[in-house]
Amino acid sequence: MSHEGIRIVSAEQAKREDMEHEELAADAATPKKVRVKKTEGTGVEIDWKDGHQSAWNFAWLRNACPCATCHEDREKTGRLPGVAKPKEKTLLTMYEAPVKPLEVTPVGKYALKFKWSDGHESGIYSWEYLRRVCRCDDCMTKQGL
Ligand SMILES: [Zn+2]
Ligand SMILES: [Zn+2]
Repeated sequence: MSHEGIRIVSAEQAKREDMEHEELAADAATPKKVRVKKTEGTGVEIDWKDGHQSAWNFAWLRNACPCATCHEDREKTGRLPGVAKPKEKTLLTMYEAPVKPLEVTPVGKYALKFKWSDGHESGIYSWEYLRRVCRCDDCMTKQGL
């Protein structure tokens, strides 16, 4: 029994969803080395077991938060993971400190959890999710970005 109704999705979204359901090789979703550049305030770098390398800056990761609330919010507004919310006009002139993690903790062996400076901390960033949103040229081309 399926609970899914009919959904109309754009070609880009359909392509993205196909990719999301594609199996990842175990080595592709297993980090060999994880560098969290919290002190430098830059971002996260992962060397994967299959030799691939990924890097994301913290602002991107915050905007790619995989928690249900952020995910739904992105779906509603059609934003891709990592894309910032459009700012309210009245806030344009206000300075906003770039979001950074106050704490980064491993979750079991499968994910990272960030406690962000804006107070948000419900996202669990699994290795698999991170590998799927890799920002290197090759992966971006595959993602059609
Ligand atoms: Zn979130
Ligand atoms: Zn990549």
